[in-house]
Amino acid sequence: MFLPDGEPLFMTYDLDPSTFLAQIQVQMPTYSNPIAPPIFQTSTFAAEDAQSFANMATEPLHAGFYTRYGNPTTRAFEDAVTALEGGGAGLATASGMAAVVATLLTFVASGEHVVAQRVLYGGTTGFLKNVAPRLGIEVSFVDQIDTAAFLDAVRPMTRLIILESPSNPMMRLTDLAAIADFANRAGIATFVDNTIASPLNQRPISMGVDLVMHSATKYLAGHSDVSAGIVVGSKEKISAIWEKAYILGATLDPFAAWLALRGLRTLPMRIARHNDTAMRVATFLAQHSQVEAVHYPGLPSHAQHDLARRQMTGFGGVLSFEVKGGAVEAEKVVSNLHLAHRSASFGSFSTLVVHPAAMWAGMMSAEQLRDADLPANLIRLGVGFEAPEALIADLDGALASL
Ligand SMILES: *Cc1c(COP(=O)(O)O)cnc(C)c1O
Repeated sequence: MFLPDGEPLFMTYDLDPSTFLAQIQVQMPTYSNPIAPPIFQTSTFAAEDAQSFANMATEPLHAGFYTRYGNPTTRAFEDAVTALEGGGAGLATASGMAAVVATLLTFVASGEHVVAQRVLYGGTTGFLKNVAPRLGIEVSFVDQIDTAAFLDAVRPMTRLIILESPSNPMMRLTDLAAIADFANRAGIATFVDNTIASPLNQRPISMGVDLVMHSATKYLAGHSDVSAGIVVGSKEKISAIWEKAYILGATLDPFAAWLALRGLRTLPMRIARHNDTAMRVATFLAQHSQVEAVHYPGLPSHAQHDLARRQMTGFGGVLSFEVKGGAVEAEKVVSNLHLAHRSASFGSFSTLVVHPAAMWAGMMSAEQLRDADLPANLIRLGVGFEAPEALIADLDGALASL
């Protein structure tokens, strides 16, 4: 931009840009022990010389080269979750779905095959049904409670087994140790979505699973204020995922990583409360005359309660239940709840409730809804930190509307 007489516009500020930048150049203090880590809200990092630049640019998982490749704040979050899951490395992503997609594109290529359980998070199922076929990736879906079905579905080209336990929203379990044992002997990688359990209630790597993923949007961050994902595994496998993820570009932002790390510090207190409240609510619902079934792995009446006790140390804050009647009755109960917000997601300070058949009807065909095993009268609750007695009273009142 030039003025009519040809003078550059910035000359009107009487300051050339390099002088200006020198004036606002920041000197970072070197205090070494902040209780909360700083946010490295920078998109790039400078190298001292040619050799270190070359090293930064080529070292896998470098946290100080370019933020899409890695960042110190994001690394702090990755290291914390890696320690909780007992892995060798972790890679944070902009959402849980970004972790799922980056992992799939790392381990499976055109002409190869995936074995997946039939009921998975809707986005994961969507990728496997609608995107994978266009990439030449074949998928076999099996019932998660039928361990032998996973073995039967394996082919010579199988590269990955995708699991989720407990699964959403029916809270069915997959026998992680049994499937990991078989897959390890067959040389097939295993991947578990551990979002609903959280690393405090279930640690799949300790059962022989290769890769553990979280939608950190839920319990890890825990305050309904950030979208984030993470996948944890061996350093070798995570480096391989990183090589795809930095090209895909779905990197976690440093501020989002800082928020997730901030949430993580209260994870033990939050999970203890979620576990306790969900157990009380499930116990209340199980004896209610307007409730046909309650799905919560902590209940002795859960069909896989023994497996739950073997592979989980707590049963989590998500449960679902079927009311007497159908979709109309389920909607009526949801509408008459006052403490719970009608909202997708869980892992919040506030109780969130959904009528899953209604939520997913827009995204899934009638056939997919049947496959996903979603009864019309089902309600899912992600309990928050309200007093358990108040939540129970709220549910009691809403059920009385039937
Ligand atoms: C929410 C969720 C995801 C997807 O995570 P986003 O952060 O929303 O991308 C995956 N798996 C499970 C079990 C989830 O609840």
